[in-house]
Amino acid sequence: MAPTLTEKQPKHGFSVFDNMLKNEHEQVIMCSDPSSGLKAIIAIHNTILGPSLGGVRMWPYESEEAALKDVLNLSRGMTYKSAVAGLNLGGGKAVIIGNPKKDKKEAIFRAFGRYVEGLAGRYITAEDVGMSLQDMEWIRMETKYVTGISMALGGSGDPSPVTAMGVYMGMKSCAKKVYGSDSLEGRKISIQGAGNVSTHLVRLLHKEGAKLYITDIDEEKVERIVRETGAIAVDTDSIYDVDVDIFSPNALGGVLNENTIPRLKCDIIAGGANNQIEDESVHGPMLIERGMLYAPDYVINSGGVINVSNELEGYNRERAHEQAGRIYDTMTRILEYSETHNVPTYTASNSIAEMRLKQIGRVKSIYASRSHFTGRMGELVGRR
Ligand code: NAD
Repeated sequence: MAPTLTEKQPKHGFSVFDNMLKNEHEQVIMCSDPSSGLKAIIAIHNTILGPSLGGVRMWPYESEEAALKDVLNLSRGMTYKSAVAGLNLGGGKAVIIGNPKKDKKEAIFRAFGRYVEGLAGRYITAEDVGMSLQDMEWIRMETKYVTGISMALGGSGDPSPVTAMGVYMGMKSCAKKVYGSDSLEGRKISIQGAGNVSTHLVRLLHKEGAKLYITDIDEEKVERIVRETGAIAVDTDSIYDVDVDIFSPNALGGVLNENTIPRLKCDIIAGGANNQIEDESVHGPMLIERGMLYAPDYVINSGGVINVSNELEGYNRERAHEQAGRIYDTMTRILEYSETHNVPTYTASNSIAEMRLKQIGRVKSIYASRSHFTGRMGELVGRR
């Protein structure tokens, strides 16, 4: 006899619903288009604050389970990032399963665009790892729910100057806490990565009179920054050993781990890279034991999503910079919460995001018909 719905089913392997329930995801969309070969997953974590927004990445995942785990994790991260940044956006993310070096073709991205369009604004996409401007343009041929488009097309263009501004202001807030002054003049700062974010960050730090140390696997990029700012070039592995006030990771994730933390000689870690702590439960306490103040990455690198959210409301670069500047106050609030409640900074930022979700959730249920969006966002999500 077939089991009834209420009967307990034996558990076999990975369960999508168990994983969705664990972190309270609203919706997961499996996209399969045999004619183009598209296999993608869109995850909408939370839309309490507004439509879910997050990039789409293309990656050759070794299994569907790995792809699903990644998209669930990343979409949840976007909910927290937007919530703590004070934005009216929810958390979402998408992954296209495939090798960005071999599997790209117009039909795949257009098929993906049609799935995004079908969600009618519940998910808004953007460029992420493995994607190019051309790929985003193909997606945009099928849907208007795309952000991070070029300035020539009326979008916000490169987000990295705004991201760098947020990292800089978050760093200053940490300096104020540790040194009693937020001036970075004369502070020794080591920077991992000489890419887009770092290029703008070093300009701000150099202007303020910081003493800079820079590394990258790409020597040309390092040389450019050395020429421009007089920074001292360091090789990629030695960056963890430089005796500095502040270490700023702006290249890769997972750089704070058991191999690197014991080598670090700094008071503050504040950088733009995503997912800097390899395992929060293990490596978070290691940072605290060593008395290092860690600025939660998703808080101080939220300038990118702040930039894009501005695009939705009618883009204005000055306003985007000004909003990214407020990351200083957000960071200060996190530091106060962390001290008052005696919790790590990354726990404090999660709590502050959750408080906002709870409070706004309550307000939304009362004023559900009001829309706070104007400009392009108003057009996209309609007056709800
Ligand atoms: P980018 O690709 O321009 O720069 C990254 C740099 O890191 C590259 O120059 C690369 O050569 C270098 N690198 C790679 N491996 C390295 C290693 N082992 N040691 C030293 N350098 C290494 O990227 P970006 O846009 O500057 O972003 C940097 C980080 O910030 C990424 O983690 C990204 O996810 C995050 N982030 C960026 C933005 C943004 O607006 N661009 C927004 C939020 C978060």
